[in-house]
Amino acid sequence: MKFCPDCRSAYKDEIEKCPDCGTALVEKLEEFENIEFAELCDVEGPFKANLIVDVLEDNDIECYLYSEPVHIYPIPGEGIQFTVYVNREKLEQAKSLLEDIEKSEEMEPLPDDEST
Ligand SMILES: [Zn+2]
Repeated sequence: MKFCPDCRSAYKDEIEKCPDCGTALVEKLEEFENIEFAELCDVEGPFKANLIVDVLEDNDIECYLYSEPVHIYPIPGEGIQFTVYVNREKLEQAKSLLEDIEKSEEMEPLPDDEST
């Protein structure tokens, strides 16, 4: 697994440059060096994946997204599967945050949707 130091996303080893920002991928991120990660969930599409990461980071949970991008993206924002990884020690906390996200999504549209 390789990481983009800018986006803090992970990709499979064959990929050398970040598909999002073009930065050269690295073997590991210094800030994650002493952290053991565990899989939290699979997410469809970058929008929701980034939403989850935002919430996790707001709560000081170290996390990153893993995806296997194809060379030509399908419809932007759709069809890409992401796996969210979090600090194993904070997995339970991350799960309850994830439940909150799922609940709020069912009840109301995201706040950003209305202002744009
Ligand atoms: Zn990047």
